[in-house]
Amino acid sequence: MGEWHNLMWNVILLILLLLIPVPAVLSWGKEGHYATCKITQEYLSEDALFAVKQLLPDSAEGDLAAVCAWADEVRHNYHFRWSSALHYIDTPDFKCNYEYCRDCHDSYGHKHRCVTGAIYNYTMQLKSAYANSASVLSYNLTEALMFLSHFVGDVHQPLHVGFTGDLGGNSITVRWYRRKTNLHHVWDDMIIDSALKTFYDSDLSIMIQAIKRNITETWSNDVPVWEHCAHNYTVCPDGYASESISLACKFAYKNATPGSTLKDEYFLSRLPVVEKRLAQGGVRLAAILNRIFTSKAPIAQSSI
Ligand SMILES: [Zn+2]
Repeated sequence: MGEWHNLMWNVILLILLLLIPVPAVLSWGKEGHYATCKITQEYLSEDALFAVKQLLPDSAEGDLAAVCAWADEVRHNYHFRWSSALHYIDTPDFKCNYEYCRDCHDSYGHKHRCVTGAIYNYTMQLKSAYANSASVLSYNLTEALMFLSHFVGDVHQPLHVGFTGDLGGNSITVRWYRRKTNLHHVWDDMIIDSALKTFYDSDLSIMIQAIKRNITETWSNDVPVWEHCAHNYTVCPDGYASESISLACKFAYKNATPGSTLKDEYFLSRLPVVEKRLAQGGVRLAAILNRIFTSKAPIAQSSI
């Protein structure tokens, strides 16, 4: 009787496990976000660094990079499920372009619920709180900083601004060398993982150093262009999203049809794109935070 019960429980548990949907991968993996925010810290002004350290949770120990993957960790949590749609933008299939009014909505058609909408929103929250500490006590500014830092990373991952029909590459099954995976996951994690193993002695800090060196040497003339927003705007994520869908078409989707096996040729030609996007995300997040926090005025305490 006892054994029968155990067997029944095992069967029920197995059925329950099979019913739980496999979560879609929704952003640069942990390494990508960590790298982006490590680069950001290098470019923060004194004022911005001061403000960021005030807002970071104690668990971060003053390190912004420690909380840059937080938004992914909580999105399966009941209280944060609303934030799932904020990690990406779905654009019309094969158009290879992006328009805020047309594309920035969730799957229910609710406007502004996409990664660029979220970047505007959290920038506004931080900026208005910084400018006028009394009026916005309702915002949780610690969360606003952690969301903003994550989403600026996400909008630079080309397949976070992908086609609607394949869920940004999530439904395109491919092989990465011998491993079966999907195209979105290749761009979130696999290219970075393979680069770490092949070129960086499996040490993320060496990879980050190499990207930082590229920023100060190879890309030094581009940095002011990356940082710039027209009309003196604090943030301009629509440009970053347009770049991403364009790179998605030129590099991510190209020669990566369902069932294809991606190996050295794909890896070696796409890795420079990934490294440049990590650099741009890092530099731009710093520029945004520097523009938000332009003086040492007190910041409203977060509401947690
Ligand atoms: Zn994400």
